Amino acid sequence: MADPDCPFCKIFAREIPAQEVTRTQNVLVFRDLNPQAPTHLLAIPQRHVADLGEFVRSADAAEVGALFTAASHAGREASVSGYRIVVNEGPDAGQSVAHLHLHVLAGRSLRWPPG
Ligand code: AMP
Ligand code: ZN
Repeated sequence: MADPDCPFCKIFAREIPAQEVTRTQNVLVFRDLNPQAPTHLLAIPQRHVADLGEFVRSADAAEVGALFTAASHAGREASVSGYRIVVNEGPDAGQSVAHLHLHVLAGRSLRWPPG
């Protein structure tokens, strides 16, 4: 299930360190190494899926729900008056890690549209 070359599988397995915020059996929320807001978290499923498209094709409702619930709880905890959840999918969106992750951004006013 885990991809031996995937950095986020390694973070889930505690093979490389990360600043964990919350962990359940299937979802981990941890701090982004290169934060783009005062709070910048990543929520990942345990299962290695490359992107959101692969996730929704292969996940059941409980797995999708667990990921979005964890991201939403983390955003609410971190925010004073709102937060943003972002998924970058593919080169045009700047996806750089091929293990689905939800960015959770909070702690400043976030412009729209994003870059
Ligand atoms: P994306 O560009 O949407 O694929 O986002 C990948 C994110 O992962 C970037 O914001 C990186 O800063 C972050 N990142 C990459 N490696 C690590 C790591 N080892 N620990 C925490 N965040 C990471
Ligand atoms: Zn992975």
